[in-house]
Amino acid sequence: KRVGFAIVGLGRLSLEELLPAFGECKKAKLVALVSGDKDKARTVASQYGVSEKNLYDYKNYDSLKDNPEVQAVYIVLPNNMHAEYTVRAAKAGKHVLCEKPMANSVAECQQMIDACRAAKKQLMVAYRLQYEPHHRAAIQLARSKKLGALKLFSADNGQNQAPDAQWRHKKALAGGGALPDVGIYCLNAARYLSGEEPVEVWGSMYSTPGDARFKEVEENFLFTLRFPSGLIAQCTTGYGHHDSRRMRLMGSEAWVDMDPAFAYSGLRMRISRKSPDDPKASDTVERSLPQPSQFAREMDHFAECVQNNRQPHTPGEEGLQDMRIIEALYRAAREGKSQKLEAVAKQDAFR
Ligand code: NAD
Repeated sequence: KRVGFAIVGLGRLSLEELLPAFGECKKAKLVALVSGDKDKARTVASQYGVSEKNLYDYKNYDSLKDNPEVQAVYIVLPNNMHAEYTVRAAKAGKHVLCEKPMANSVAECQQMIDACRAAKKQLMVAYRLQYEPHHRAAIQLARSKKLGALKLFSADNGQNQAPDAQWRHKKALAGGGALPDVGIYCLNAARYLSGEEPVEVWGSMYSTPGDARFKEVEENFLFTLRFPSGLIAQCTTGYGHHDSRRMRLMGSEAWVDMDPAFAYSGLRMRISRKSPDDPKASDTVERSLPQPSQFAREMDHFAECVQNNRQPHTPGEEGLQDMRIIEALYRAAREGKSQKLEAVAKQDAFR
């Protein structure tokens, strides 16, 4: 039986990506909506066949506990609301899929993990690309040593953000600027591709003076991560430039790159290695794989975990670890010096 989901927050991501993606899901189904705007909720409900009795707002949200049709909630709210709505959902006896970044601080992430653990409910952070075929293939390439020893990773993820991006430019709501919003994709990829956790990080940030968008949050963030094997990741993220979403993982024997790497669709992957016929030349091939909806894959994974009472591939601990590193990166940028990180055990069994 399919797992019933409530979508919490009817903003852009929900309306443009998540609701349509249910059409491709095999294990997850949309059964309820949570929105502060009744009219919008009614319109969306009629479009997706959600019954009127399954429409909630932020005040009666806790009464989800009386609705057995809803087994999981998907939190798609501004970042500062993730912790509160996750904790309330766990208390209402619901499993929680939460958008990235998991929250605005390590302390909030820990509260979310504790609440779900106490309620014996699954908690997953919506790292869509860890469910995407090209990224999974890149993980396999890196882990099977086909690239040789991993040496360098470089990634950039950014966009020229509209001035009306509202909460994203408010520090209290967003937690930060480009780094936690889109830079997190570079950070997360460096970790899942290598299967390692960084031991030392450097960061610096810069915002164009006088740009009203960046009064509270940073425009650009540049960061470096050093991993135990010696792999170095060099990443940039920004809110003021034309879309750029690329990455390259360089090993001693080969490299894999993607451009775009972090988009919702249209990913392009290339692999380059020494030519077997001519040691002075490289063979570079494009590898194209199916591109199902990343959001459907992610929601189906969570539904399967709920059905089988299994820890998701990207549990709360995965979001917590990114937040630890993000906090260290802000410290590095503020203090102008590198930060050492404590070693943490890998949580994920299928890595
Ligand atoms: P959005 O601004 O379009 O939507 C946010 C929704 O929250 C709106 O419907 C808004 O009305 C509602 N909301 C409720 N209370 C609010 C309040 N107090 N202040 C402001 N809004 C309030 O944002 P979005 O782009 O849909 O992002 C939502 C979440 O999804 C964020 O955490 C974001 O990081 C994440 N996201 C993830 C991806 C991805 O690829 N996984 C892409 C986009 C956004």
